[in-house]
Amino acid sequence: MKVALLALQGDFAEHEAVFRALGAETLQLRQKKDLEQQFDALILPGGESTVQGKLLRELEMFDPLKEMIGQGKPVLATCAGVILLARQLLDDPTVHLGTLNAVVRRNAYGRQLGSFFIRGSFAGIKDVPMSFIRAPQIEFCGSGCEVLAEHEGRITAVRQGNQLAMTFHPELCDDYRVAQYFLSEIVGKN
Ligand code: GLN
Repeated sequence: MKVALLALQGDFAEHEAVFRALGAETLQLRQKKDLEQQFDALILPGGESTVQGKLLRELEMFDPLKEMIGQGKPVLATCAGVILLARQLLDDPTVHLGTLNAVVRRNAYGRQLGSFFIRGSFAGIKDVPMSFIRAPQIEFCGSGCEVLAEHEGRITAVRQGNQLAMTFHPELCDDYRVAQYFLSEIVGKN
């Protein structure tokens, strides 16, 4: 099992540590030619979506990644990664990969609630630690897109086939159940 991390910016190292702890091999994607290697799953980390989107385009990784996701490569996206996947952003005309049938609002929790921590249910898994850091909100998810977690009426995680997207950061906690869910329910059944 080889898990590739988009390693242009953001917290890819934290995701990498989680998947290594779970016994996966990992690969950092830093340039276009890294995409030629074989891997079973792709991680889009948290960070700054504007920077990530710009680098993806400059490095010519944008089209191959979009195609790969469209063809069914399992992908786990956290926070900025969700913004990269969304088909529409509110208050922002930019669309990045646009493969996820969801409408997303950046920095949805405002300055006061910029960062917070809760425990909640994710896909029926109880008491999952969830760190939100200048998180976006999934305002709407359309057909094919299933809600896996919510917090106070806001959608925090969705799945659309091979794409698993969450506005919080499971990789920042010592609880690997979200990553295990991804490996068993999406990568393993791919
Ligand atoms: N606010 C960031 C953005 O708009 C996302 C924050 C995060 O990934 N923790 O890209």
